Amino acid sequence: MKKVHTVRGPIDPDQMGFTHTHEHILCDARMTHRTDPPTRGAYMLLDDHERAVSELKKYKDLGGGSMVELTTPAWGRDIKILKRISEDSGVHIVATAGFYTWPFIPLQVDEHPITQLADDLIVELTQGADGAEATAGILKSAIHFDRIGGVEEKCLRAVARASIATGAAITTHTAGNRHQEIPGGNVGMQHVRILREEGVSLDRLVVGHTDEHPEIEVLSELAELGCYVQFDVLKKTHYMLDLTRAKLTREMIRRGHLNRILLGTDRCRQVELYEENGGVGYTYILETFIDMLKTEGVSSAEINQICCVNPGEMLAFG
Ligand SMILES: [Zn+2]
Repeated sequence: MKKVHTVRGPIDPDQMGFTHTHEHILCDARMTHRTDPPTRGAYMLLDDHERAVSELKKYKDLGGGSMVELTTPAWGRDIKILKRISEDSGVHIVATAGFYTWPFIPLQVDEHPITQLADDLIVELTQGADGAEATAGILKSAIHFDRIGGVEEKCLRAVARASIATGAAITTHTAGNRHQEIPGGNVGMQHVRILREEGVSLDRLVVGHTDEHPEIEVLSELAELGCYVQFDVLKKTHYMLDLTRAKLTREMIRRGHLNRILLGTDRCRQVELYEENGGVGYTYILETFIDMLKTEGVSSAEINQICCVNPGEMLAFG
């Protein structure tokens, strides 16, 4: 049977429980490789292990079971520490292999052939990563620009080949440069085209950040192709209101795409996570967004499918 590959080892999909499929527990945006690191402002930085445990315990106390941690190696992933945080909090954590956006792609990637990059990803998914015996459990492709090209396309093709070799899902950061507003809010369709060229089954693709600038026809088309559509920046209401996200979720269900929807809140800054800084922790979906979905007419069974069943089906491989 296919397993979900957590930092504490493989588990059955039905052991995951309630799951956010796009979060961060440890990340450090100062680790840029092609641009100057940020020095001011609320940049992406989560580095307090004890605090991570206490925030995850609050999530678990409300019914949370698992979390997909989408920080890649070149901006702060450490599977050994994630394993300790998982053990101390009791929350299952799935770690990520792959690449974040252009500033965070290590320069040596330019020199390596795609086959070597893919082989390295396969090792991280099947043998171990960060010097740990634990493995990553999902692949990531991130696009910084409004079109997929250059080293980001090279990374995407390596991720595609690692997905084909292992069966692991590919999750995407599709916001691009937000100055270029793309219908559908993302470069999801460009991902589809390249992954098809590489021979990836589209039910292995999670189109992320779709809720930054959504277009229901684009989202429906992605779901009809078999992709997962992920509303994963909930509570980042500078993009859009969560009420609108709830209505989009209901409309996707009405169009027959219940088993293609995933949710997350993408907490990656202390101002987003820590209550004393104005954050909402990891508990926002359980405490607030579920009620919004119910108000829109989404049933408890449908919420269970989205938050507990779909994540397991998406993550299971091997
Ligand atoms: Zn993220």
